[in-house]
Amino acid sequence: MLKLLFLSTPVGPLGSGIGGGVELTLLNLAQEMSQRGHQVTVVGPEGSKVEHISCQEISGTCQEMIQNNHRDTPIILPENSVLANMWDYGRKVQNDYDLIVNFAFDWLPFYLTPFFTTPIAHFISMGSMTDTFDEMMNRVAVKYPKNIGVYTRSQAATFPFNDACRILGSGLNLSLYNYCESPDNYLAWVGRLSPEKALEDAIEAAEIVNIPLKIFGKITDEEYWQTIRKKYPHAPYQYEGFFNTIELQEKLGKCQALLMTPRWIEAFGNVAIEALACGVPVIAYSRGGPAEIVQHEKTGFLVEPDSISGLVTAINNLHKIERKQCRQQAETEYSLKALGDRFEGWFNEL
Ligand code: UDP
Repeated sequence: MLKLLFLSTPVGPLGSGIGGGVELTLLNLAQEMSQRGHQVTVVGPEGSKVEHISCQEISGTCQEMIQNNHRDTPIILPENSVLANMWDYGRKVQNDYDLIVNFAFDWLPFYLTPFFTTPIAHFISMGSMTDTFDEMMNRVAVKYPKNIGVYTRSQAATFPFNDACRILGSGLNLSLYNYCESPDNYLAWVGRLSPEKALEDAIEAAEIVNIPLKIFGKITDEEYWQTIRKKYPHAPYQYEGFFNTIELQEKLGKCQALLMTPRWIEAFGNVAIEALACGVPVIAYSRGGPAEIVQHEKTGFLVEPDSISGLVTAINNLHKIERKQCRQQAETEYSLKALGDRFEGWFNEL
């Protein structure tokens, strides 16, 4: 039995959606580890919602999202930083734990690593973003090469410490996702509404094929969203809102396909496996995490990155995909058991 302390992302409370896919990965992993008999405590910003697991909420100012930064943006730490407060808490209680697991994509946990006596496993949830972060992570990778975990190989390849990265993937509580055999006439787009996700490409494709597009997710960049609304006054799309897993899977399951149009190298794309779990084929640009997930022409289509006509062709070929195969892939590769086995092996080694 391991005593595990999970330190969450500092950009928003768990359950808010601001943190994106890492929120779901953390919660699923906490649940699976505790199911296996390990003792798990989660530390998250005040307002975090964690069911059945002990959670220490920490007050303070959340970090700005890093997605809009430039490569040379310096390190930013707000006054009364929740990131600093969470790691201060971690330092105080570290002796009660065998392992600390860092889920923050930020410099401080890496900087602090040599000063802690309890080992720290760093789960990195995005590809390379800034030079200072890379430098800080690289220092840890050189000194503690076993302590770096990532979602996918393509994500690892964005870092100078590619070879040190342990590939851990993601996984879901599949019992929460219902298989849907007969969809309605809708397409889906799911994710944070933020420029790196390039929602506009999905809207353009939906307009060409004239199939309504349902949009699910947190609006984390209001200005971006307003720009889209002005640019596509007549496209057949509808913003549905941000939902919890139970509601999201119900609505997502009824869609013909999920469109994934990220402009950046998506580290994983939890929404891809959530769609597959509902039997929904995934049409994604062929780069980053989705390119490692989607089985081309079997559980979806991988199209040339940034090609709207590629999306359109794929939508027109959706009849070739058997939805059962999608659910099957999720069950084989992305169950909680598969996720738990990969992470537990890593934790035991550390
Ligand atoms: N999500 C959600 N409710 C919604 C829309 C999205 O909970 O209405 C979650 C979804 O379950 C997924 C996350 O938002 O876990 C998006 O994560 P993803 O890995 O796809 O991208 P990221 O935001 O990490 O870049």
